[in-house]
Amino acid sequence: MSDVVATSATPILDVTEVSKSFPASKDPLGRVTARLQAVVEASLSIAPGETLGLVGESGSGKTTLGRLVMRLTDADAGRIVLDGVDITNARGPELRAARRKMQVVFQDPQSSLDPNWLVRDIIAEPLRAYGASRAERQSATERLLADVGLEAAHGARYASEFSGGQRQRVAIARSLALEPNLVVCDEPVSALDVSTQAQVLSLLESLRDRRDLAYLFIAHDLAVVHHISHRIAVMYLGRIVEVGPADEVYYRPRHPYTEALLSAMPNPNPADRRERILLSGEMPSPVEPPPGCRFQTRCIHAMDRCREIEPELVKYGDIEVACHLHESGPRLAGSSVVEVSRQQSGGVGYIPRRASD
Ligand code: SF4
Repeated sequence: MSDVVATSATPILDVTEVSKSFPASKDPLGRVTARLQAVVEASLSIAPGETLGLVGESGSGKTTLGRLVMRLTDADAGRIVLDGVDITNARGPELRAARRKMQVVFQDPQSSLDPNWLVRDIIAEPLRAYGASRAERQSATERLLADVGLEAAHGARYASEFSGGQRQRVAIARSLALEPNLVVCDEPVSALDVSTQAQVLSLLESLRDRRDLAYLFIAHDLAVVHHISHRIAVMYLGRIVEVGPADEVYYRPRHPYTEALLSAMPNPNPADRRERILLSGEMPSPVEPPPGCRFQTRCIHAMDRCREIEPELVKYGDIEVACHLHESGPRLAGSSVVEVSRQQSGGVGYIPRRASD
C-alpha cells in the first residue's frame, strides 16, 4: 500500500488512552482477586479513507480494542470519539446513531451469517432495523450485491450455498448497507485460502476508495496488513508498541517485537529473507505482566532499565515507538532496530538468534 492518506484531516475515529480489564479470578465470596489487562492506555486515530492495520499475536488485545471501538464492550478508562462525537459512554439513541456510522466484518462469515436466511434478507436486515421501506431495501440490496461482485440472482439463495469468499462478500455487503464511515475488519480474510484472500482484499480496497471508507483492519498476518494499510499499529500484551506508515513499519521496524514478528514471516523470495529472530517463550500472562517493558522477557535487546521502567510511546517524525533502545541519543532515536543496534555496537550490529541455533 503506497498511497498516503493525509492524516491532517479530522479523524473519523479518535481513541485516547483507552483501557479495558476483565476479572480473571474471584475469591469464595465472589470478590475479584485478579484482573486480566486486555488493553492498556491505547491511543489511535483514523482519517476518512484511511486504513489503519492493527497487528499482534493472539492475546495481544487487538480484538478487544476493536470491540471497544465498536462499543461492543465498555471501556474502563479513556475516550472514544467517532466523527466528532464522544461515544465513550453513549447509550440508547446516541449509541444507535453511532452504530449506523460504524460496522464490523468478522473473520468467519459461516457463523456470522444466518444459514436459514436468504442473502437478500441478510443484506437488508440493517436497513430494516433502521426503518427503510421495502422498496428502499430492495434497490439498496441489488446495488450492494453488484458492489461486492455478486449477481442479483444470488440474493435469492441461502448463504450456506456459497463458498467462503462469496459469504465474506455477503458479509461486506451487509456491513455497507447503512453507508458507514468506518468498518472494523476483524481478521476478515484469515479463514480464506490465499487466492480468495487476494480477491477479498482487492474488493475491500476498491470499496474503500470508492466510498471514502475508513478501516480498522485487525489481523495477525503482517503481510496482509501491510498490503492493505496506510499505517500500521503493533500491539503486545495490551499495549500499542509501534505505530507508523505501513512501509516504515514493514521495512524498517523500530520496535524489537515488530522486528521479530516480521522475521518469523515465511518469504518465498530468498533476496527478501530477513534474519530469523526467535521469540523465546510464550507471551507472559496479561494477568501478571512483567515489570518494566512488557516485552523484556522475550527481547534480545533487553537492558537493565527495560526490567524496571515501562517505556512510553514516543514520537519520532511520523513514527511512534515504545522502546528504551531509542533513548540512547538523538542520533539513534527513531532509527530501525537494526540501525540502532549496529550503531551501539560500533558498526558490528547484534547477532540475532537464528532459527537453527
Ligand atoms: Fe526490548 Fe527494552 Fe525495547 Fe522493551 S524497552 S523492547 S525490552 S529494548
